[in-house]
Amino acid sequence: MSKEQKNKLIYEKKTVYEKADKSVIDAAFAYADGYKSYLDAAKTEREAVKVSIELAKAKGFKEYRLGDKISAGDKLYYNNRGKNLFVFSVGTKPINEGIKITAAHIDAPRIDLKQCPVIEDGGMCFFKTHYYGGIRKYQWVATPLALHGVIATVDGKNIDVCIGEDESDPVFYINDLLPHLGYEQAKLPLESGIKGEQLNILVGSIPDDEDGTIKLNVLKLLNEKYGIDEEDLLSAELSVVPAAKARDVGFDRALIGSYGHDDRVCAYPALTAILEADGNNTCMCILADKEETGSDGPTGMQCDLMLDLINELASQLGGNPAVVRANSQCLSADVSAVFDPNFPEVFEKQNAPLLSCGAVFTKFTGSRGKSGTNDANAEFIGYLRSILAKDGVVWQAGELGKVDCGGGGTVAKYISKHNIDTIDLGVPVIAMHAPYEVVSKVDVYETFRAIRAFYKY
Ligand code: MN
Ligand code: MN
Repeated sequence: MSKEQKNKLIYEKKTVYEKADKSVIDAAFAYADGYKSYLDAAKTEREAVKVSIELAKAKGFKEYRLGDKISAGDKLYYNNRGKNLFVFSVGTKPINEGIKITAAHIDAPRIDLKQCPVIEDGGMCFFKTHYYGGIRKYQWVATPLALHGVIATVDGKNIDVCIGEDESDPVFYINDLLPHLGYEQAKLPLESGIKGEQLNILVGSIPDDEDGTIKLNVLKLLNEKYGIDEEDLLSAELSVVPAAKARDVGFDRALIGSYGHDDRVCAYPALTAILEADGNNTCMCILADKEETGSDGPTGMQCDLMLDLINELASQLGGNPAVVRANSQCLSADVSAVFDPNFPEVFEKQNAPLLSCGAVFTKFTGSRGKSGTNDANAEFIGYLRSILAKDGVVWQAGELGKVDCGGGGTVAKYISKHNIDTIDLGVPVIAMHAPYEVVSKVDVYETFRAIRAFYKY
């Protein structure tokens, strides 16, 4: 048997470095610069919506409101409450041929402030918190943090807050125990070493001149800066996130370290791909909120807004909504866990996503016998293989960890339940949900190329 025949007969996973041209690697490194800027500017879903709208507007996309007129060739975006964004490019093909949808999420695990957060004890003033999403609490102590969010006042103002990102800003901090006094704590399981109610944010230590409390001094400083009183915090959404910026990782600069790759690392490729859509197919890019807490609420993927927009597109362009949905396809763009040689016991190597081997297609997620999963159709995957081959996209099949080791879900099932063929696609991540996660530049770029091919063909 010739080497060529053997190579065709046996499937072997290879890295992008082995499979792609040098020009693709160079393009991947250039693309990573734009992505790093996006990461630094978009640490919360609200910031991601703002930055994404700026990028869309620069490419001629216009704001759409429900009920506005839609015509073929329109490039539009719908801003849902500043936390969830739909970007769509209306194609010239009949709308009944369906919509090419991608859905990524722009919320990330973090620590939210409680509504009545300010407390004082032991010469320190803190903000009480309730963590958001699946964090490992021990990772969030003893590291610089930044405060992001909005305060909605009774007179209708929305005050943006962002402290800790500029080099001249102060940062915030969560105390940990010193090893000298941590003998008992060190014996606890990782999960309970730091408890939820210990995630208090250190925000001040100078007592007020008049009443001697640090709390009053902190509230005075907040009043000076933002014109707010303590009661205004009742109608605020404030979060702390790592203050660190996105950086290249490694001597060869092939990796990117950052907070919030999950799931900006799919949101950015999905967004930049739709901004280049050629206008033949009708395409939609959904940047969803609340994925990390179950996709509930009006800005999460379980909200009916996607259907409302599909119905609008169908009715205004002379289609039938049920036919449009039946012919639509979706890439649920979310991250996967990369095989990590430091923790081989939780991965089944042949089916785990490998670093730098390209975009990961995950047929099924869920846990314990595929429970709670959209399980993508073989026919749909066959179709995707054909279009990825046209553009020479490097991709791999991947499963999240060993059977019965854990599991996870994505928004895929909230889209496929509307009779839309859906599959999970995304970037393999090192240390997913950690305050600083790591991805490979070539995997990010292949994910972009995969989505671009999906929108194009
Ligand atoms: Mn995710
Ligand atoms: Mn996640």
